[in-house]
Amino acid sequence: MWNSPKVGILGGGQLGRMLVESANRLNIQANILDADNSPAKQISAHDGHVTGSFKEPDAVRKLAETCDVITAEIEHVDTYALEEVASKVRVEPSWQAIRTIQNKFNQKEHLRKYGIPMADHRELVNNTPEELTQIGEQLGYPMMLKSKTMAYDGRGNFRVNSKEDIPEALEALKDRPLYSEKWAYFKMELAVMVIKTKDDVLSYPTVETVQEDSICKLVYAPARNVPDAINQQAQALARKAVSAFEGKGAFGVEMFLLEDNSLMLCELASRIHNSGHWTIEGCALSQFDSHIRAILDLPIPPKSLELLQPSIMLNIIGGATPDSHLKATQAALSIPNASIHLYSKGAAKPGRKMGHVTVTAATMHEAETMIQPLVDVVDTMRA
Ligand code: ATP
Ligand code: MG
Ligand code: MG
Repeated sequence: MWNSPKVGILGGGQLGRMLVESANRLNIQANILDADNSPAKQISAHDGHVTGSFKEPDAVRKLAETCDVITAEIEHVDTYALEEVASKVRVEPSWQAIRTIQNKFNQKEHLRKYGIPMADHRELVNNTPEELTQIGEQLGYPMMLKSKTMAYDGRGNFRVNSKEDIPEALEALKDRPLYSEKWAYFKMELAVMVIKTKDDVLSYPTVETVQEDSICKLVYAPARNVPDAINQQAQALARKAVSAFEGKGAFGVEMFLLEDNSLMLCELASRIHNSGHWTIEGCALSQFDSHIRAILDLPIPPKSLELLQPSIMLNIIGGATPDSHLKATQAALSIPNASIHLYSKGAAKPGRKMGHVTVTAATMHEAETMIQPLVDVVDTMRA
């Protein structure tokens, strides 16, 4: 039996909250570094939490003093503080992995060395229209201009349809470090959750993700109408990409499935991920359970990562009115087999993830039929 380990978590949003749910069931204390009323702290009553931000070195040092191992629910953390405390406490995954991954351009440069297929891309050095015009001639249009750092939910991406869009694109992403990516003509977006343990790299089944306005809306597990060969190839690609980084825990890998059935990496995250929420109901061990076990070197039977039942996850996102998400939740209460997860994040803003719902069923068709009325409600509430 383990000796009541204490896990420090940088960030107490919904991902931290769901990690706490898993830790609680194993009597593992999770010490959260975030604001006092953050979603993760609300469900964890003990005096080991730290008030502050995962971007403040002092707060990270304070957290390190109270824990056996430190992890993060977000990649946008102070990795220099993590590097410093790594001599005293285990940091999982490694601060090097988080530092490389948090800069999407550096992440891709690193993965290129390992032969991971991805969209051709160019770095901007001066962020001038002349520079981007030249890149446009090389990559063609449309192309996706992207912020290297602090990107999430597409906030950091700008689709450049032609040379005429260049001034607007540079204005939208001004003062940010940029790179531009060749357009990926995908027929489907896929994702795989990978769990890196002390001596293994495991993966969950390949799922299909549907983004709307660059925010994940729906996740289908398994991916619909995708042959098993592609499911296996996507898992292998995801494991290979994650193997390029040091450290233990969950990694979310996003991919494009192109028209010719080849796969390309979109990006990866050094943490539990929205595309893996379905595992709470869909597998014996959720991504959160597996992450906790991986960073503490506890056993993870690979069979526990297999799909138990087809699952569909729908995000509940802040919509047109401040109570849109509550109306969606109300509707979810009447959906059969629906597990509702609300994050208690306070006020809803358009585009803010407020919760999610997962429906499981014996067949994907049945799950689709059951969740469709809720998808219809969510569609009428879009901002
Ligand atoms: P996340 O919230 O997943 O961290 P992000 O803000 O880091 O998102 P990306 O994952 O890079 O952004 O892109 C968001 C979405 O934009 C992708 O899921 C995809 O739908 C679209 N996209 C990104 N890059 C490209 C590309 N090169 N070609 C076409 N579409 C793209
Ligand atoms: Mg991202
Ligand atoms: Mg993404």
